[in-house]
Amino acid sequence: MHGDPHPAALKVLQAVFGYDSFRGPQQAIIEHVIAGGDALVLMPTGGGKSLCYQIPALLREGTAIVVSPLIALMQDQVAALEQNGVKAAYLNSSLDYHEAVDVENRLRNGELDLLYVAPERLATPRMQMLLEQTQIALFAIDEAHCVSQWGHDFRPEYRLLSHLHQRFPQVPRIALTATADVPTRGDIMEHLQLQEAALYNSGFDRPNIRYHIAENLGNAKEQLLRFIREHHDGEAGIVYCLSRRKVEETAAWLERQGLTALPYHAGLPAEQRQHHQTRFLREDGVIVVATIAFGMGIDKPDVRFVAHLNLPKSIEAYYQETGRAGRDGLPADAWMAYGLQDVITLRQMQQDSSAADHQKRIEQQKLDAMLGLCEIISCRRQALLHYFGDHLDAPCGNCDNCLTPPETWDATVAAQKALSCVYRTEQRFGVTYLVDVLLGKHNERITRFGHDRLSTFGIGKELAVNEWKALFRQLIASGYLSVDMEGHGGIQLTANARPVLRGEHPLTLRKPSKSKTTRRGNKGA
Ligand code: ADP
Ligand code: ZN
Repeated sequence: MHGDPHPAALKVLQAVFGYDSFRGPQQAIIEHVIAGGDALVLMPTGGGKSLCYQIPALLREGTAIVVSPLIALMQDQVAALEQNGVKAAYLNSSLDYHEAVDVENRLRNGELDLLYVAPERLATPRMQMLLEQTQIALFAIDEAHCVSQWGHDFRPEYRLLSHLHQRFPQVPRIALTATADVPTRGDIMEHLQLQEAALYNSGFDRPNIRYHIAENLGNAKEQLLRFIREHHDGEAGIVYCLSRRKVEETAAWLERQGLTALPYHAGLPAEQRQHHQTRFLREDGVIVVATIAFGMGIDKPDVRFVAHLNLPKSIEAYYQETGRAGRDGLPADAWMAYGLQDVITLRQMQQDSSAADHQKRIEQQKLDAMLGLCEIISCRRQALLHYFGDHLDAPCGNCDNCLTPPETWDATVAAQKALSCVYRTEQRFGVTYLVDVLLGKHNERITRFGHDRLSTFGIGKELAVNEWKALFRQLIASGYLSVDMEGHGGIQLTANARPVLRGEHPLTLRKPSKSKTTRRGNKGA
């Protein structure tokens, strides 16, 4: 443990930022950087990363250069610092020529404590020359996972930062991130040349967040409404949707139900976005319905819930988005409804993307991990933390699987029926069609293809449509079936399906839920 706080650092914390004491590892990190050391900081969202470089910036000679990927984030940070009387500015594409020159002059004259810069700008010859003429206090590299292809938000510009160390060997560097699995961490150290840096890992657990992943029963909006009414009446929250259209529909629908719900996505006019963001920050009980464009850099401590109406495409994305709930440390909920269609849509989007093959494989693995988290029957927090290389000894007692252990069933026979139905229909059809065949429905298509004469026609009457759909979803999610991407999304068998079909591999699966509500104890304080 560390001794008394560095007196000057504590003074800055209190006098400039108005806080009494350091939180977690802040003090150790700040002292290390003030003394000129390099650091890699892994700290969950809301942990207080910013102060780790802002305080050394004020206590070391010269200007701290902060690399940040998002313009909105820079503007917010600079505005907040200026309010505290700190001399801060940013250089990015939102400035016109004269404004940029003005910032450059302030930098050259040593008038800035902190300068926020976009990574691609930092690499320009003009900026490099400017830096040569500047006394630099430190480099802070925010969202450092962006340097890694293993990270969920790879930005090639971040690779340009690897030169910083050669050009400015005396200047300490601090890299920070809230989401980095183990391979991503290795990449950060390698590409930013931080092999010698001190590692500060505060773990990723957000114990006050209760995780809940519900099955989309075909009426996810209604499920969401019920969840909000039961647990978060009149409280602030964020609802994430995949598409702009769904954002607008959902916000309008929630409004009609009497809630205050505002849409937010990149397609709305800037003033409207700004207005909705301001209302969310200032008023009580506002819900923002948004695409992922919303949330980065928004520091609202009392967001009581984050809901997903679509499956995020990686555990990192899920963790980062749900991490916006409960920054104040009080109980908060991460709620999600997901269904078969999410799985199919995301798989198709991935295949159709123009990314290189190895990039696609990484994305595929990330989606698989996310699906795994949805389908597990054990503690979600343990699985989540395990994904980030953290360890939790016992089940958390604060996720849906811990609170209401899911019922399971022996799905071997049903799975065999489903898989052989896929096989008999030649692996060309979607789930709706397959379920119709299993249930023995007579319709024009089935008759046309002669599938009413198959041995699998009508052999699945013991399960209802929704139960079959849930089974297909789980078989896709667990890799027994895949979605054909070249064709039209037909369902195909994978190599894993054979042992199941041969009866060599029993399957225990989560029972499809019938109840539409989630049981839960007390509402968050
Ligand atoms: P992160 O970047 O890790 O998500 P921030 O740096 O935005 O987190 O900090 C999260 C919140 O915690 C902010 O509101 C910040 O002002 C507050 N905070 C940070 N450090 C302290 C501290 N030592 N005492 C009290 N509040 C703090
Ligand atoms: Zn748990």
